[in-house]
Amino acid sequence: MTLQTHLLARIAQDGPLSVAEYMTECLLNPTMGYYATRDPLGVAGDFVTAPEISQMFGELVGLALAQAWIDQGQPSEFTLAEAGPGRGTLMADILRAARAVPGFAEAARVTLIEASPVLRGIQRKTLADHGPVWIDSIKDLPGAPLFFVANEFFDALPVRQFVRDGRFWRERCVGAADGTLQFGLSAPCRRPDLDHRIEDTKDGDLVEICPMGQRIAADIGALIDVHGGTALLIDYGDWRSLGDTLQALRNHAHADPLDNPGQADLTAHVDFEALCLAAPCAHSRVTPQGVFLERLGISSRAEVLAGSGRTARKDVAAAHHRLTHPEEMGTLFKVLGLYPARGRPPPGLEA
Ligand code: SAH
Repeated sequence: MTLQTHLLARIAQDGPLSVAEYMTECLLNPTMGYYATRDPLGVAGDFVTAPEISQMFGELVGLALAQAWIDQGQPSEFTLAEAGPGRGTLMADILRAARAVPGFAEAARVTLIEASPVLRGIQRKTLADHGPVWIDSIKDLPGAPLFFVANEFFDALPVRQFVRDGRFWRERCVGAADGTLQFGLSAPCRRPDLDHRIEDTKDGDLVEICPMGQRIAADIGALIDVHGGTALLIDYGDWRSLGDTLQALRNHAHADPLDNPGQADLTAHVDFEALCLAAPCAHSRVTPQGVFLERLGISSRAEVLAGSGRTARKDVAAAHHRLTHPEEMGTLFKVLGLYPARGRPPPGLEA
């Protein structure tokens, strides 16, 4: 059975799926879902992420987290958590760079939130020296200071889509026609949670919400508020969502999100305002990735790395450009910092 057949049968029995239900099936169906069945990262996969482009990314994120730990009085036990760690590259680079900060690694309990058994297996190898623990849900994070990072994780969480119709909203759904998957719209309904979008939208506009992302931001923010710590949320998106951003990527090319379900990566842009509203702690400005990395000193790090002879100078320059240039990842990707109400923003995210 293919995932397409399974989805058509489910729709025939229960009716159309919300876009969020469709994304959940495509990404996480235990036997046929995209993440459940493969390692999607890298040149041979469907997309390349910042930590896979260069070690500089994880090193600078690691030093920013370690500095935030120092600024908060070096708590002697804390959770160093990553959501959606992919191949474990970012966490490995964080821990290597943070060796320069005495006491950090010893105090850290490395904790990974990962849904994919395939990727958990790769993380187990990459991070074998650091004794990580895996948890299934953010809810399982312990009551302790939390230093948290997520890169390209929130974009993988399922979104619901609503199309404005007067003062009402119609949910975009995935149904079936002629044996194929098709988008449709539900009957108009009131959505009190979208009241604030009546001001900045007009009839026919589409807005997205990510309930799971909001719940995760609420849980992380509550831990940081009570126990201290900081979170760096790095992703593509903007302050406020407007328009259909659901996209499918397969073999580094865009595809139709309804074609070959389970075979393509499905993502949506992150609505950072919604994460800030959900998190009961302080938040930084949403800062372009290029600005964040330059503030943390990526240019100097690139010089040192190029001079070390271990990575070819032209490769270091290309990675630096790709991570920071406005036409590459520098502007589309943003960084949001969460921190305690009485604290200060993490390094690189000062106003
Ligand atoms: N952060 C990594 C990988 C990004 S890909 C990097 O930058 O390279 C998205 C990651 O999130 C994968 O590890 C994927 O398996 C994981 N993921 C997606 N949805 C998830 C969910 N609902 N719960 C836990 N992990 C999830």
